[in-house]
Amino acid sequence: MTPVTLNAHQVLCEAGEPIEKVYFLRSGFVSLCSVDENGRAVETGSICAHGLVGSDVLLGSTRANVCAIVAFSASEAWGVPTTAFLQGCEACPSLAAFAKHQIRSLLLQAQQNALCHALHSIEARFCRWLLQASNAARTNELDVTQEFCARLLGVQRTSLSITAHQLQQAGYIRTVRGKVRIIDRNQLENIACECYGRHRHTLDQLGWAGSYSAGPNREYDRLLAE
Ligand SMILES: [Zn+2]
Repeated sequence: MTPVTLNAHQVLCEAGEPIEKVYFLRSGFVSLCSVDENGRAVETGSICAHGLVGSDVLLGSTRANVCAIVAFSASEAWGVPTTAFLQGCEACPSLAAFAKHQIRSLLLQAQQNALCHALHSIEARFCRWLLQASNAARTNELDVTQEFCARLLGVQRTSLSITAHQLQQAGYIRTVRGKVRIIDRNQLENIACECYGRHRHTLDQLGWAGSYSAGPNREYDRLLAE
């Protein structure tokens, strides 16, 4: 395995390209985006610390269905060639079980996100995303631009700017030079759509595969050491 430090907006795998490596995410947040013919993208899933990027190779996928984009700089991961990962899954049932947990998490996320994009407001979705990303990065100061958030949410940049301005006027967030600081988490939780709670519940149900738990994850480290 090769330890790598990931940069903000780094693309780990383009949609349609061969999945040459999978990534065990040690820290940070990776957005999985479906992309249309015109290059417009929308986030259909996400992977936080202790999760796995590229888990669907276990189902036989050889090319990525989605684009995997790193949200924050200085994220850490272990990169493993896909062939070595599949051999590892055959030799190590706990590794295969972990990958299946990750696949199930992404399936549930995709189903929830389909509902979210169709039915929930930009404001509710933006608050949901900020909270999810904040939990994953374990900080209230997110190194993300509004342009990046707008792309992930599949909305116009101007629409997101209006929403961010309203949240800032209310004193719930502060946006400064490509950063978003969460000022009042409780108010964001009140505004965020129900998908935020469901996403956390899903992760809790699935246990340690892509958990929000703070600090080192011994079970994850033990799996990587096998
Ligand atoms: Zn929602």
